Amino acid sequence: MVQIYNKVALIGLGLIASSMSHAMRRGKLAKEIIGYSRSCDTRNRAKSLGICDKIYDNMLDAVKNADLVVLCVPVGAMSSIVKEISSAMKPGSTLTDVGSTKRAVIESIMPYVPDEVFFVPAHPIAGTEQSGPEAGFAELFDNRWCLLTPENVKKTEMFRLEKIKSLWISMGANVELMDPDHHDLVLAVTSHAPHLIAYTMVGVADDLRRVTDSEVVKYSAAGFRDFTRIAASDPTMWRDVFLSNKDATLEILGRFTEELFSLQRAIRTGDGDYLHEYFTRTREIRRGVIEAGQDIDAPDFGRGKL
Ligand code: NAP
Repeated sequence: MVQIYNKVALIGLGLIASSMSHAMRRGKLAKEIIGYSRSCDTRNRAKSLGICDKIYDNMLDAVKNADLVVLCVPVGAMSSIVKEISSAMKPGSTLTDVGSTKRAVIESIMPYVPDEVFFVPAHPIAGTEQSGPEAGFAELFDNRWCLLTPENVKKTEMFRLEKIKSLWISMGANVELMDPDHHDLVLAVTSHAPHLIAYTMVGVADDLRRVTDSEVVKYSAAGFRDFTRIAASDPTMWRDVFLSNKDATLEILGRFTEELFSLQRAIRTGDGDYLHEYFTRTREIRRGVIEAGQDIDAPDFGRGKL
C-alpha cells in the first residue's frame, strides 16, 4: 500500500489508537506515528509495546508538525485537548477524532479548531470491551464501517477529505459519509441503547446475586454472558457517550420501554402468537446482520471461551 500521511499524532493510547497504529503499520500508511497519553503508566506501557515511533509526555510536542492529529480519548475530554493543542497544530494539517458520538463532539471542538486546520469527525464502528494500549490489534477495523460526518466542506478541502477516507479504507474499513445528527440517532439504536440495557440487566443480576448467592455467575447462560461482556466496557467512555448523546438515547429508550410493556402484556395474557411473531421478526434481523458481513453465524464469535 502507499503512504498516505507523513506524520500522524495519536492523542490517547487506548484500544482504538493502538489498533490504528497497528493497522497503519500493517499498510505502511504513515511515515512516522507519534503518541501521547496523559498518564505516565499508559505511556510506559505503550512504549514497551512499541506501538509508536515516538511517545511524548507533552501534547504540544506530540502534535508539532503532524499532518494528521487523531483524538482517541473519551468524547468529554476532546474539547479541552483541542483548546490546548490548537496553537501548536500545523497550518494545512487535518484533525480528526474517533468518538462514538458526533454532534456534541463537533459543537465542543469547533470553537478551538484553527482556520487553517481541517476537521473531519469520524467514528469507526469497531471495538471490544477491552481498553488500553495492549488491547489494540491491526484487524480491528477490517470490514467494519467508519462513518465520517464532515459539514460544509469547501472545494479546496475535498482532497483532504479524500485522504482521510483513503486512510480508513487502507486500514480495512468501509467508509460512508453521514449527517452527524443522523449518526447519533442510528448509533443510539445500534449501540448506545443496547449498552445501557446490558448495563441494567447486569445490575439487576448483581442485585439478585445477593439473594441467590453466586448462582447468577455460576449458571450464567449465553444471553447473560453476552450482557456481562458488553457491560464490562470502559465506564468513562460510556458515561461520556450517554451524556453527549442524551436526546437520541432517551428517544430510543422511550420506544424500547413501550415495546417491553407490550411483550410484558403478551406474557401476562398468554398471547403466544404475539410473542412468536415478534421473535420471528427479530430473528430475521439477525440473519440480515450476518448477510451484511457484520458478524458470523458461530455461537461464540468474538466472545472467547469462558
Ligand atoms: P481506552 O482504551 O479506554 O483509552 C482511552 C485513552 O484516553 C487513554 O489513553 C486515556 O489516557 C485517555 N483518557 C481518558 N480520559 C481522559 C481525559 N479525561 N483526558 C485526557 N485523556 C484521557 O479508550 P478507547 O476504547 O480507545 O476509546 C477512545 C475513543 O474511541 C472514545 O472516544 C470512544 O468513544 C471511541 N470509540 C471506542 C470504541 C470501543 O469499542 N472502545 C469504538 C469506537 C469508538 P490514560 O490511560 O493515560 O489515562
